[in-house]
Amino acid sequence: MSALEQVDSAINFPALQPPHRYLFGPGPTMVHPRVYEALSKPIVGHLDPYFIQVMMDCQQLLKTAYGTEAGATLVISGTGSAGMEAAVVNFVEPGTKIAIFANGYFSDRLTEMAKRNGAEVVRFEKAWGETYTDDEAREFIRREKPKVVGYVHAETSTGALQPGNAICAAAHEAGALVIADCVTSLGGVPVEFDRTGMDIAYSCTQKGLSCPPGLSPMAMSPRAMEWLRGRTTPSRSWYLDLKLIHDYATVSHRYHHTAPISMFYALREALLVVADEGIEKRWERHRRCHQLFVKGIEAMGLSMHVPEEHRITTLNTVCVPKGIDEAKVRKRLLDGPGIEIAGGFGPLAGKVFRIGVMGPLATEDNVRFFLSEFGKALKAEGYGQ
Ligand SMILES: *Cc1c(COP(=O)(O)O)cnc(C)c1O
Repeated sequence: MSALEQVDSAINFPALQPPHRYLFGPGPTMVHPRVYEALSKPIVGHLDPYFIQVMMDCQQLLKTAYGTEAGATLVISGTGSAGMEAAVVNFVEPGTKIAIFANGYFSDRLTEMAKRNGAEVVRFEKAWGETYTDDEAREFIRREKPKVVGYVHAETSTGALQPGNAICAAAHEAGALVIADCVTSLGGVPVEFDRTGMDIAYSCTQKGLSCPPGLSPMAMSPRAMEWLRGRTTPSRSWYLDLKLIHDYATVSHRYHHTAPISMFYALREALLVVADEGIEKRWERHRRCHQLFVKGIEAMGLSMHVPEEHRITTLNTVCVPKGIDEAKVRKRLLDGPGIEIAGGFGPLAGKVFRIGVMGPLATEDNVRFFLSEFGKALKAEGYGQ
């Protein structure tokens, strides 16, 4: 059929009927039914007072989710990577020295963005899955004296959680701003932006918040806002210029770009779902399910990639047992019960499964269901025989 022929839509393009999946991967995760409903609400204009209020509601609800009172919250129209790019392009000018804690794939992406922006990048390299002690963090920052420090709070490629208190304290002592990647942590594990001392944090909608992908919620400390206001040269990115976006979203409400209205409806509803449960109760639910998950994994004779005290409770990296082809296990899970999980990549390719237990899937019944199906798939691939 040529591209210009009249299409017979019923034959060539049957109605959308996505397969039913249990999204036990690192993201996107299951979307809450209330969020699906919000997505179907009628569109209004991006300058309509109703939409402006929706945007402001998101900003207010994000303060609780992030744990910030004095900080400014903003929503970037783009996925988590857009938040990362906004952080870099606004706060890392050409020639700026940035110190990056490099222990996984996303700190490499941060490095790449900083380099493309002409920054001088110094890295503290560690193996994928390791974390930094307070002393190591302080020593690195005191030695390098950077203007900006970057770290990944929950490193999705490895399953390791990096505490930020010592990093932020040492950075502030050196007069540096801290960029924290909270893409996987927000909504599932404590972020505590103010208490940790973060200056710029970005996240996404499709992991801990149980929303589809499409937006990147950010938080900025008063120090970061002051730095931004004092910037004399405009940011190299017009679309991700946080001064312009902040003005549109919170001050003048003058047109900057056409915000994706439906996604803001979805985010607002997802944040209300979080608020209705209570953020602390939500962390606790995820922690409980994580413990049950690990117990089940260990009972199967399997082991976790990250030491117990440094694990992300919403994203588990399970070591692939010797002699098992992890891709075949994943295919079995997808083809059979319709369960999606992810494999490792980079240095962890073929070595770990990455299994998310987040949002609506984080219940004891769902964890048991997953463990049972996972056990069957492993056995079918020869595990334990
Ligand atoms: C998923 C992820 C990103 C990128 O987010 P996208 O929404 O895929 O653009 C960045 N950092 C971390 C830690 C992530 O897990």
